[in-house]
Amino acid sequence: MDYLHNPNKYREVGAAMPKGVLLVGPPGTGKTMLAKAVAGEANVPFFSISGSEFVEMFVGMGAAKVRDLFKQAKEKAPCIVFIDEIDAIGKKREGQIGGNDEREQTLNQLLTEMDGFEENSGVIILAVTNRPESLDPALTRPGRFDRRVPVELPDLKGREEILKVHAKKVKLADDVNFSTVARMASGASGAELANIINEAALRAVRDGRKFVTEADLEESIEVVIAGYQKKNAILTNKEKQIVSYHEIGHALVAALQSHSAPVQKITIIPRTSGALGYTMQVEEGNHYLMSKEEMENKIATYTGGRAAEEVVFGSVTTGASNDIEQATKLARAMITRYGMSEEFDMVAMETVTNQYLGGDTSLACSAETQARIDEKVVELVKQQHQKAIQILTENRQKLDELAKFLYEKETITGEEFMGILNHSVTPK
Ligand code: ZN
Repeated sequence: MDYLHNPNKYREVGAAMPKGVLLVGPPGTGKTMLAKAVAGEANVPFFSISGSEFVEMFVGMGAAKVRDLFKQAKEKAPCIVFIDEIDAIGKKREGQIGGNDEREQTLNQLLTEMDGFEENSGVIILAVTNRPESLDPALTRPGRFDRRVPVELPDLKGREEILKVHAKKVKLADDVNFSTVARMASGASGAELANIINEAALRAVRDGRKFVTEADLEESIEVVIAGYQKKNAILTNKEKQIVSYHEIGHALVAALQSHSAPVQKITIIPRTSGALGYTMQVEEGNHYLMSKEEMENKIATYTGGRAAEEVVFGSVTTGASNDIEQATKLARAMITRYGMSEEFDMVAMETVTNQYLGGDTSLACSAETQARIDEKVVELVKQQHQKAIQILTENRQKLDELAKFLYEKETITGEEFMGILNHSVTPK
């Protein structure tokens, strides 16, 4: 912004502004909004186009469209040219047999234009992508998009501030505490936080109220995480009992291990996402590091639901499928990426390929090693599963008492849970 206002200040010293700035980060973090805000604050014209438009709408015209865009931009300089989804035209070219001629021509034209205009011509190109690793190296080399601005998911403080901004549009009750809401919405993007506020406002209207309460906000976090309550889903008494034990199993294993996030809420009201119930754990503050013990305890907590079914009913159900997935993912990451197994020490067995879109990984080791990794993963999960079974067996009385309470009330708070737990129990 400062450069667009006072280009001379930079020219005098001989500093060249970067031509291209790449905003990278996961979807929904406000990259487009940020680019628009820069143009708005700098008070310069803003030309915007989406990468996918080049390839979809203008078949056979992508290159001409790029030429036009830059012609206009140079006339209006200083200005900002904004390219959304640049990966749609800027994907790596090598190794594609046949390739996409249309896209290649468009990309070549873009590169030509970027090289064509001189440094300090007053045109700054902002581009957005959530797959920076897939971009053609020709785009990211010096003189082109050589600046990278990471736009990550907001932290606790960030979430609180974002919630406050979106909440300006709605009427709030006095009991709203954004710090609690922000803590519960851990991992939410800016777009999801906006959605949470809106869901809460919709809920207030449905209830015939003129303002949004803390309860509305908390419920809407659950809507965004797990979907709406499925009011007409009828569980048999036996199923409801199993779900109660399953959820208390998670909560109890979490609570009886040290280094676990406190339980905020447990519910067995089915959701449209298919979840029959869930246990919400909320971290006290921001966590940037996780110890090996914390990760192990987390795996034990994931297995806690199934463990409770085994301890109480002596049989197992399909209810743990998501837990199994999560536990496995964590166990695998500990071994292949975080160097937390003795056998493999600090050797990376896996690399993350899609950092901002789900974080897919690919194995980087021999088939024999893969087999050993699989064994280690099974061993680790088994160990934690056994630990969970042991914890629940030793605290069977509390397990029964809490499951009965949850069965009757359907939703209980973390305080209610701790209240029952804390009369006379020895944590391990
Ligand atoms: Zn579960």
